[in-house]
Amino acid sequence: MQAFSDNADVTHFIHGEPVRGSGTRTQPVFNPATGQRARQLLLGEAADVDAAVASAKAAFPQWSDTPPIRRARVMLRFLELMNRHRDELAAIITAEHGKVFSDAQGEVSRGIDIIEFACGIPQLLKGDYTEQVSTGMDNWTVRQALGVVAGITPFNFPCMVPCWMFPIAIAAGNTFILKPSERDPSASLFMARLLKEAGLPDGVFNVVQGDKTVVDAILTHPVIKAVSFVGSTPIANYIYETGAKHGKRVQALGGAKNHMVVMPDADLDQAIDALIGAGYGSAGERCMAISVAVLVGDVADKIVPRLAERARSLVVGNGMEDTAEMGPIVTRQALERIEGYIAMGVDEGASLVVDGRGLKVAGHEDGFFTGGTLFDHVTPEMRIYKEEIFGPVLACVRVKDFTEAVDLVNAHEFGNGVACYTRDGHVAREFGRRIEVGMVGINVPIPVPMAWHGFGGWKRSLFGDTHAYGEEGVRFYTKQKSIMQRWPESTEKGAEFAMPTSK
Ligand code: NAD
Repeated sequence: MQAFSDNADVTHFIHGEPVRGSGTRTQPVFNPATGQRARQLLLGEAADVDAAVASAKAAFPQWSDTPPIRRARVMLRFLELMNRHRDELAAIITAEHGKVFSDAQGEVSRGIDIIEFACGIPQLLKGDYTEQVSTGMDNWTVRQALGVVAGITPFNFPCMVPCWMFPIAIAAGNTFILKPSERDPSASLFMARLLKEAGLPDGVFNVVQGDKTVVDAILTHPVIKAVSFVGSTPIANYIYETGAKHGKRVQALGGAKNHMVVMPDADLDQAIDALIGAGYGSAGERCMAISVAVLVGDVADKIVPRLAERARSLVVGNGMEDTAEMGPIVTRQALERIEGYIAMGVDEGASLVVDGRGLKVAGHEDGFFTGGTLFDHVTPEMRIYKEEIFGPVLACVRVKDFTEAVDLVNAHEFGNGVACYTRDGHVAREFGRRIEVGMVGINVPIPVPMAWHGFGGWKRSLFGDTHAYGEEGVRFYTKQKSIMQRWPESTEKGAEFAMPTSK
């Protein structure tokens, strides 16, 4: 496929075809493992959003009129194609994002889960019905598609996060415009082609590549009814406010600082495995990565030396190599930002137990690599505690007891994911009840909810009312209509001017 070979231009996908669009601006797409520019992204302009909207608007009447079961059958064919091409897609992700291949395969699988969920759309769209709300009168509710909707997605899950959005939106009868991350844009085009192959009518799914120019054109476009966003908190906040100001329904998922509380009674071997996997997996570039270990009582003295040993021995390399446990950082700028935070942590007085900075991988000297970094004695006033670093940097905070651990987590501005490791059922139950975070794991380090449960954080990790995917996703992409019906005696009585009540 030409679009995915090295040095090819990455295009838009509008009305069922790859198109070069109206712009002249371009941006390089790198392979972060080699540090080489691999492709060139064509950045869209407002006119490209207009073209995508025109196509999506034209496709909407027929697509939303298509019986849900027939829309579900298109999704089913798409599901089969995604399963068939899973490894090809995973390789595209590793080449542009850097994450190790097995992790990219996992990402594709979690995206496929949502497509599978969307195949059940006839059941999900079923409304409620009440017979005889008044004499001879029935009342029912239906959920109808919104129209043209859009999704704006981050670099860290170029397949899974778009799949949180478009399968449900499309299955529900909407038409969709995706604006993927400029850093790893090829997965979106690959999926666009598979959707077409699955029989999706032209215009139902479009991709417009680009930066803020495209995002702003989406947020202010009068035809677009709803915007789903996933990315960092400052941009999520901006998307929410700007989209709402322009009359759109908006769900905007933001950044995170996820804590894992380790109680003194926890299985420490399991807790260490969990911290290493969740802290350094995908180079910490997951919105559900654990970036703070909250070590209760004497846990720190027992596990920090063991965490250090494991962090030092992480196998860092090209994600396509079987032995690699951690790949490179997505871009050189992100690498510099992460290493800048490590310097800041030292200045702030945290103990730098393992320093991952300056790592060189043999044979990949120009790649964007850093090793795993471990800090101990981090305190809540430090910026390395407060801010999202989004890299392989694990900060250990020592607390005296469970209450202090819960208070610490609850005081943080983010509330995306959290975990608690314990063997005490009562502690686990209290943690689940008291913690002010949207997604909680008990002895589960990365509690990403399954397709039918929905994903979303609390506090400044989510702006909007509904979580992504699951039934909340169906609700977001549809509007409820209530219909009351009475035959034929209402016409005999003439107009009624009093407030209707049950008779
Ligand atoms: P980002 O906010 O930089 O970019 C996200 C999207 O917004 C991209 O499509 C980008 O093109 C666009 N964008 C960037 N700057 C913009 C601007 N000034 N105006 C308008 N649009 C702009 O995020 P990222 O670096 O791609 O992704 C990492 C971030 O995403 C992290 O903060 C991570 O926690 C977060 N994230 C959150 C979740 C979640 O579910 N809460 C999931 C994945 C990632």
